[in-house]
Amino acid sequence: MVRVAAVEDGQLGATLGMVRGTELRTVNGRAIEDFLDWEFLTADEEFTVEVRQPDGGEHTWHVVRPEGASLGLELEPPTIRRCANRCEFCFIEGLPKGLRKSLYIRDDDYRLSFAYGNFATLSNVKERDIARIIEYRLSPLYVSVHATPWDARKVLLNNPRVPNIVEQLTRLASGGIQFHGQMVIVPGVNDGAVLEASLTDLWNLGEAVISVALVPVGVTQFSHLYTGASMDREASRTLLDTVRRWETQALAERGDRWVFGSDELYLLAEESLPEAEHYGDFPQIENGVGAVTSLRERVGGGLERLPRLDGKRIAVVTGTSMAPLMPPLLARLSEVTGASFELLVAENSLFGSTTTTAGLLVSDDFRRALSGRTDFDLALIPAESINENGVFLDDTSFVALREEFPFPVFPSYDFIDVLEAEPAVGSSFRSAA
Ligand code: SF4
Repeated sequence: MVRVAAVEDGQLGATLGMVRGTELRTVNGRAIEDFLDWEFLTADEEFTVEVRQPDGGEHTWHVVRPEGASLGLELEPPTIRRCANRCEFCFIEGLPKGLRKSLYIRDDDYRLSFAYGNFATLSNVKERDIARIIEYRLSPLYVSVHATPWDARKVLLNNPRVPNIVEQLTRLASGGIQFHGQMVIVPGVNDGAVLEASLTDLWNLGEAVISVALVPVGVTQFSHLYTGASMDREASRTLLDTVRRWETQALAERGDRWVFGSDELYLLAEESLPEAEHYGDFPQIENGVGAVTSLRERVGGGLERLPRLDGKRIAVVTGTSMAPLMPPLLARLSEVTGASFELLVAENSLFGSTTTTAGLLVSDDFRRALSGRTDFDLALIPAESINENGVFLDDTSFVALREEFPFPVFPSYDFIDVLEAEPAVGSSFRSAA
């Protein structure tokens, strides 16, 4: 059963008599267990739905939906399937106390993988789920593979009961499901021969595997479970050699690169990040694969839209991994706008200095970077550090932080988004704050 959370006025659901709290029980006689059942079983123009109203009344409605008409229902959020693994490198295991509550939820849910691109290990997927994935065509899925040799995968997921991922993926592939895979590489565990075996297994699944990302393990000072080595420059270079060897084969045989190193891998290896064409349609950008190159592209493509901002002083706060890449970008912005940009590099006070990603900076880091400064007209901080409710990882609201400074502070994804919004040449940023 799934419960209705809200009903849009004037839409079919409201006309039928659905209200907040209506329980959606069956469609065409099949039980509704979650949003996927509802979405897929009501996709036809006609269906029969059994409901139970908040007053206890039970009804069966035959629904005829005109083409394109919406039911206008918002459903209560699903109960998230929790992760049964205990990876040593788990980011959530490595979170300190006192952060946003939702951060501590270890989801491992193929439904969220399909709906939102969250990575899932498929460790908790049963036969019934596999049949459902195939029936509902939940494709592509985003799968944390880590390793295909079963023993290595048990070690990586720290779970002796994980199913055989090759068997699972083969079964799903034969049902027409495709995947994007990721492998978090732990030195000495799933690099070397295990990595070769894993890439070979994934390659042998053919078109079912759309892309594979290799991501170096990242640990924080709170990663109390982690016993492995950290990824250093040499290990990163060796991994990039593997990426290049496989991408050469993939380019020759299937016309795309197929395997990608994450941005972090290039940064650790101290090698230049590839150009945009390397990433094709950026299949794993949300996973930090090509995000920096995409940023450069967006900055380059947006320069002509920027107003002149002569005399303005603009602070740009970022993390230590992005810092070396910033000067050329800021120089271009300065050249085009006439503003002067000052780069402020913030260390992560919450996770420690080994956590270098700008998106994991917390309010205190921005406070330290900008405190005592009164000479800026504007400060830009990474938008990725704030969630959709405007809250940093440390549960501080962006609005509260912004109030502490005498100049406007804006979250920005690519500088252009904020700078092009400056309403008129020479006007004050304060007017837009
Ligand atoms: S699969 Fe591993 S890394 Fe992912 S949430 Fe579970 S324990 Fe954490």
